[in-house]
Amino acid sequence: MSSHQFPTTGHDHCPFMPVFGAPAVMFERGLGTELWDVNGKRYLDFLSGIAVVSLGHSNPVIADAVTKQINTLSHVSNFFANPAATKAAVDINELLFEASGERGQVFLCNSGAEANEVAIKLARKFGGRGRFGVVSALGSFHGRTLAALAATGQPTKHEPFQPMPEGFRHVPFGDLASLESAIDPSVAAVLIETVQGEGGVIPAATEYLRGIRRICDERGLLMMIDEVQTGFARTGQWFGFQHAGIAPDVVTMAKGIGNGFPVGAAWARREVAAVFQPGDHGSTYSGTALAGAAISAVIAEMRRIDAPKLAHDKGEYLARKLTDVDGVVTVRGQGLLRAAELGPGRDAKAVFTALLERGLVTNAVNATSLRLAPPITTSIEHIDEAVAIIAGVLAEGVGT
Ligand SMILES: *Cc1c(COP(=O)(O)O)cnc(C)c1O
Repeated sequence: MSSHQFPTTGHDHCPFMPVFGAPAVMFERGLGTELWDVNGKRYLDFLSGIAVVSLGHSNPVIADAVTKQINTLSHVSNFFANPAATKAAVDINELLFEASGERGQVFLCNSGAEANEVAIKLARKFGGRGRFGVVSALGSFHGRTLAALAATGQPTKHEPFQPMPEGFRHVPFGDLASLESAIDPSVAAVLIETVQGEGGVIPAATEYLRGIRRICDERGLLMMIDEVQTGFARTGQWFGFQHAGIAPDVVTMAKGIGNGFPVGAAWARREVAAVFQPGDHGSTYSGTALAGAAISAVIAEMRRIDAPKLAHDKGEYLARKLTDVDGVVTVRGQGLLRAAELGPGRDAKAVFTALLERGLVTNAVNATSLRLAPPITTSIEHIDEAVAIIAGVLAEGVGT
């Protein structure tokens, strides 16, 4: 099969397992906010690989750091240390200290789901025998491995894979009383997103997050925040929990942490991390030097450009422009993690397809809304161009 042919999902000659829908476009190259497909057509990327490529495609700083590292040392196993991974761990701990006021330790892994597995294992070890439950929200998304899937509050995703691992319960997002009544002596932790990303870009109220912190303190539970989509400046703060002025016990990260280099991390306050002993967890690629170089380069570059401020300012601008578009009912989200609600009379999938044809990459995050998460480095000109494309498609009545 030539690289210019699509993998045809669901057919014998497709090289990939049929878990994803049929891909609409094959992309070959990216630079900043722009992408080009195999036919040379240009697109604006207002999804960033789902909030991953926050510093833009082919960012030269990240490319340089990873290239230098692969030419120096890529991996040595975790029987030994290497400077790149050690620096990345120090950098993450410093960032979390600045954000939360807490000193902690990190476990490096390869994805968001893996980071949440670490959080869940920490909760079980911290809770002790008989105290293993994790409460999470309906509509949440925590990943596709079995325990992360069990924590994910979407029963239809569980159904084909029953029985789920034990010890997970779900409560309506935003309802503190339900959360409190779901807690019994078997519960060890609450796992929550500050903005439900896959669930439709739904921010948690500040009072809800503060209420969870209070309940966790009163009951001796861990407050574990899944910052896989919201972390690394996406919402206009380094981490989503900073909007609520709270300090979590455990934070999980991935997506934006590597700008496309596949890596994740779980951080915990020192006293929580201390429940782990040698042998309790591991991964061949935990602390691989290549990933370390990517993480430190991302953090340094995000600090240099003040990525949280950029995400805040451009996010406010994008939201303001979108609100003025005919056919956009409301705009949700924080920073550069946004959803344009198109209302019940509009099919977001049809709008997504029309936008893609016109060279704008977005995501129909649910039946009636579009998720927009451009690179934090995107320009005002690109935002204006994207909003004009959206306004044009909606004005034509697409999806009605
Ligand atoms: C994407 C996502 C995950 C899963 O991350 P993977 O890297 O796909 O395993 C977990 N939690 C949240 C909030 C996410 O957005």
